[in-house]
Amino acid sequence: MNIENVILKALEYGDGVVKLAPVWVPRSFLSPGKRLKLASEDIYALGVERGGIDERWLASTTKADNPGAPEDEGLSYIVIDEGSRINRVLLKDAIDLLGERFLGKDVIRKHGGWVVLAKFFDNSCPIPLHLHQMEEHACRVNKLPKPEAYYFPPQLNIVEGRFPYTFFGLEPGTTREDIKKCLERWHMGDNGILYFSKAYKLKPGTGWIVPAGTLHAPGTLVTYEVQKASDVFAMYQSMLEDRPVPWNLLIKDVPKEHHRDLDYIVDMINWKENLDHEFKKNHYIEPIPAMNPEEFKEMGYEEKWIIYGLDDFSAKELIVYPRRSVKIHDRAAYGLIVIQGHGRIGKFRVEAPTIIRYGELTNDEFFVTVEAAKDGVEIVNESSSESLVILKHFGPGNPEAPKILKRN
Ligand SMILES: [Zn+2]
Repeated sequence: MNIENVILKALEYGDGVVKLAPVWVPRSFLSPGKRLKLASEDIYALGVERGGIDERWLASTTKADNPGAPEDEGLSYIVIDEGSRINRVLLKDAIDLLGERFLGKDVIRKHGGWVVLAKFFDNSCPIPLHLHQMEEHACRVNKLPKPEAYYFPPQLNIVEGRFPYTFFGLEPGTTREDIKKCLERWHMGDNGILYFSKAYKLKPGTGWIVPAGTLHAPGTLVTYEVQKASDVFAMYQSMLEDRPVPWNLLIKDVPKEHHRDLDYIVDMINWKENLDHEFKKNHYIEPIPAMNPEEFKEMGYEEKWIIYGLDDFSAKELIVYPRRSVKIHDRAAYGLIVIQGHGRIGKFRVEAPTIIRYGELTNDEFFVTVEAAKDGVEIVNESSSESLVILKHFGPGNPEAPKILKRN
């Protein structure tokens, strides 16, 4: 059977919902926090040289840009249970072949595919201060700019790690000269750039938005990150916990002729955004109910926007109460992950796993096509005591996503 027929059969079986296999991604320059439910003996399943696994990518059509990685690292597979055997097709191939069926005509015409990447990342130490280039600097290396946003699921953050704080932006008053001096002393130990930034305590159940060009050094909470699908970045911190950060990671996405050009490198910083006097007010997000909370209680569920305020993507948390069965409608296609409880989504049994072996399948991740989202997906919580909790990631242009941040 050709790939297209396999995908069509999967869509038919799941009424427009398909199951995905877990995608594990190692990072050689970071240290895993071991809270992603991957079995502890499998954290280095790809070999110590490749690094520990500290990320799980969700509904991904983006290849991981890791040195030495296999062709399909980072890419999600649709899993098709054919009784006697399990078939797999890349979600990327499915969307390349049947994009309109998955995402709708409008999205394909405007964006050409699924241009969002969601993931969990989980580190035992912070990530060095870095930014993702804005449009003008990303396009000079043929890449896309990358805004991103975070939400910290309480279910995965009972242990907060040893540094649950994230540095964001630059202290108002910081100058280009200050940052150039830090870059000049890159090879002389810690370049001191964090003295010009400010750390905020991270609170489970809340999040932050990080527009392109904003400096940030994510702390040790398990983070549900939704971002524009692009791997562009530049590290500005020269040492992390006594380990040097290679200069290469600063200039990885800088045109060759500017590799030693500190003016170009400080230009990649979005100065207005970083020096914002009200940085927290303009970047910190608390969930907002997707409809009147009183109505939800009667209907057996609640739904909140957990990532919003940016055009490129959004995310919701859905909580279905014990023993309740609900039908959930959305106006756009989405990927989903179950983080608590068990029950059913459409025709599929679902559960939040406790321990996952590397390479094994789970029943916690799915993709819902636009038609299925609009028709409504039936979700049943089969527990008598525990909520069924699902995170849903949307691409650009979900007409229902709030555009304005809730001010605190
Ligand atoms: Zn980042």
